Amino acid sequence: MKNVILLAPPAAGKGTIANDLKNLGYIQISIGDTLRRLAKEDKALGEAMQTGGLVDDKIIFKALNNKLDEIGNKPYILDGFPRNIEQAKMYNELLEKEKKDLGVVIYLDVDKEVLLKRATSRVVCLNCGRSYSLIKDELKPNEEGICDDCNTNLIKRKDDTEEVFESRYNTFIEKTFPLIKYYEEQNNLYRITELEESKILEEVKRIIGF
Ligand code: AMP
Repeated sequence: MKNVILLAPPAAGKGTIANDLKNLGYIQISIGDTLRRLAKEDKALGEAMQTGGLVDDKIIFKALNNKLDEIGNKPYILDGFPRNIEQAKMYNELLEKEKKDLGVVIYLDVDKEVLLKRATSRVVCLNCGRSYSLIKDELKPNEEGICDDCNTNLIKRKDDTEEVFESRYNTFIEKTFPLIKYYEEQNNLYRITELEESKILEEVKRIIGF
């Protein structure tokens, strides 16, 4: 199975896709979820995340390496990493050292208006990372405020406000968007544009060969 990198602007649905791919045997690596857990004890980290900017690369690499060590040789999906060219280069070096393949990079191209609406209407589970919508019936939890998968209370992310969304979106355009060209030049990029939500998973499966 090919490893997957999901590149997408904030609230594009990376987490939802990664969560769906777990059923195919993939391990989801969400650096954002790891950071949110760490931020419960680390106030400075929580504050840094709330600016909508990127967290220091050193912290990110530590979190990534810990997770990669933990999962061994299982196939994985990187949800929210890399987020800048430096991280992509460091990741390539790591793969070369370990003689591993990069796999495929999937870019979810979604309109800013749609993203803002999703961000401000979502709730998430901090335990398993699953996201829900407060306005879309098919994405609501069975029981209000409780995760269907692990029974944990759902929360609203502190960075899912209109103001922080704007900053996260700008960070995406400035730092992460250049990765699209970077991976296109390496012939690894697949773009999914303007697709109905229900069809996105089908398209992702087609790309990874399921
Ligand atoms: P996410 O859950 O992927 O939307 O990430 C939430 C926040 O965590 C981001 O807005 C960043 O502040 C931080 N973050 C997550 N992944 C990374 C990364 N690869 N590099 C730097 N910061 C990150």
